[in-house]
Amino acid sequence: MAKIIRSNRAKKSSVPPVPKKSAKKAVKSSPRPAAKTSLKPKSLKQESWTPAEVHEAFSRFRKANPEPKGELEHLNPYTLLVAVVLSAQATDAGVNKATRALFAVADTPERMLELGEEKVREYIKTIGLYRNKAKNVIALSEKLIAEFGGEVPRTRAEIETLPGAGRKTAKVVLNMAYGEHTMAVDTHVFRVGNRTGLAPGNTPLEVELGLEKVIPSEFMLHAHHWLILHGRYTCLARKPRCEVCLINDLCRWPEKTV
Ligand code: SF4
Repeated sequence: MAKIIRSNRAKKSSVPPVPKKSAKKAVKSSPRPAAKTSLKPKSLKQESWTPAEVHEAFSRFRKANPEPKGELEHLNPYTLLVAVVLSAQATDAGVNKATRALFAVADTPERMLELGEEKVREYIKTIGLYRNKAKNVIALSEKLIAEFGGEVPRTRAEIETLPGAGRKTAKVVLNMAYGEHTMAVDTHVFRVGNRTGLAPGNTPLEVELGLEKVIPSEFMLHAHHWLILHGRYTCLARKPRCEVCLINDLCRWPEKTV
């Protein structure tokens, strides 16, 4: 019955009948042209990189910067963990400014507890969300002492149980403190993975798994830092510097400027 009514209406208005689903969409969609997206969905349709191309890209990163370093200052696995927890929604430079003084007086969970939450808060008050972060630093220090002998554990699952630490924190700590071949996806890696077409994905997890799949093991120790540095200094969010980009011939981004 519903079909007959639709087709009669279509005849009257000389407009071809619209399938029910599309009609719904048409009502919802804005009359304005869709905003230009800078990452997906174009990149999702890009031609995949060949293994030889991926090898070539990372060989170039390695040649240009054989020992890339993270920019978060730390003294040991514990201070690295604290720095990464503090870095959520903050810049590395901002975190370093606060932690230099903090780590000078508290570089172990025991010393952090001696310092106490109020003083920790004072040291880190220039960092966003500092009240909650100070709470987490104290709580994770307590947990490290109570359950892990005061040491930062060596598995992702264990690190993820610590207050303020998620998947990305765990992967950064495992990579930087323990030399594991993990990939952590922050905003820079997410952008580079999508734009280049190396590992397109709608979520950080999709990009992370995609990168782990395509990057050869010989590059995995440093891949995380190469991609972060590439995103931070070359493949900038608003104005990527394609003209000086080491991999501009391999990059699949349709909007690259070279
Ligand atoms: S060519 Fe441009 S868009 Fe592609 S990776 Fe390099 S800087 Fe980024």
